[in-house]
Amino acid sequence: MILKGIEELKRFLEKPKSIVIIGHRNPDGDAMGSTLALKHYLDKKGHKCTVVVPNEYPDFLHWLPGSDTTYRFDWQNNQSKKAISKSDIIFLLDFNALHRVGHDMQKTLENYSNDFVMIDHHQQPDDVTYMYSDTNICSTCQMVYQFIEMNNDLDLIDTDIATCLYTGIMTDTGSFRFRSTTSLTHRIIADLIDKGAQNDKIHNNVFDSNSYGRLLLLGQALSNLQILPEYKTAFITLTDQEKQQHNFQKGDTDGVVNYALSLKDIIFAAIFIEDEEQGIIKISFRSKGKFSVNQFSRNHFEGGGHDNAAGGKSDVNMDETVTKFTSLLSKYKSELEVSYE
Ligand code: 5GP
Ligand code: MN
Repeated sequence: MILKGIEELKRFLEKPKSIVIIGHRNPDGDAMGSTLALKHYLDKKGHKCTVVVPNEYPDFLHWLPGSDTTYRFDWQNNQSKKAISKSDIIFLLDFNALHRVGHDMQKTLENYSNDFVMIDHHQQPDDVTYMYSDTNICSTCQMVYQFIEMNNDLDLIDTDIATCLYTGIMTDTGSFRFRSTTSLTHRIIADLIDKGAQNDKIHNNVFDSNSYGRLLLLGQALSNLQILPEYKTAFITLTDQEKQQHNFQKGDTDGVVNYALSLKDIIFAAIFIEDEEQGIIKISFRSKGKFSVNQFSRNHFEGGGHDNAAGGKSDVNMDETVTKFTSLLSKYKSELEVSYE
């Protein structure tokens, strides 16, 4: 764990400030939940906060309290840049390096003259002035809860804050099932329910709001699934054409990689999703046990993340990407064999 400058930060925040809060590009439940929860909390403390979201996020997160107050950097560029340049400090949540916000926004942040605060649980964080980094914590939302606790402000957590935090903890732990889910996580979740988070509604809003097209796309993904039992590996491909056939919307492929990991005896899963617009194959990796997909992705696919969940990309076409992936596996055979014993 890294805790840097937190007492100084507390003193800085004793007077009302203008604050911008940012999560990573392609925001997930933890990025949206943590940024909005922190906004609600700091607004309550008398600050004026703006959440700037790098780009589009899935429909199943639009119901989050405060979602309608955010700026989108990609299409509300001027307002976003103005909020950033006017701010006294910027909070960076749920990401470890400035490039994770996307190229244009990264350039804006690199020219920022005030300080950054990072609250994040990814490995190898960039060094900024104020830091709370802990790779053992399941979600940035749990860290925001603990940050509020460090400020002795747990009693300020209201229904909106509890709802946002519950959402991010739920999504980043795969509904409280990954190893990163601890007894403390469950105690925090219990407190969030006591403070007004409606657990059934939140699960419903996030997981039971599928479109018909999304389910058909899932069907396509499952029929593309390939299994390599000798490497305890399974992977899924989705081409741009297949996405368009089923009216692909942002977020439709979130979580699909987990179906590959749900196969008996499979401990390493990948999904390769063609993105013709960006000219890349976007990749998600998942694993069980000791095999680090963070390291695998860093080494071979320009990405990173956590030990058991990481992302990456490939600049060559789908066939070449899959060939590259499968031919790498023999090197890892012995590691994969013992990963989840
Ligand atoms: P997902 O596969 O759900 O997109 O991402 C899994 C985890 O890896 C998330 O924590 C996400 O923030 C991280 N991640 C996804 N893509 C990238 C990437 O391109 N680079 C890095 N460093 N992390 C990523
Ligand atoms: Mn996260």
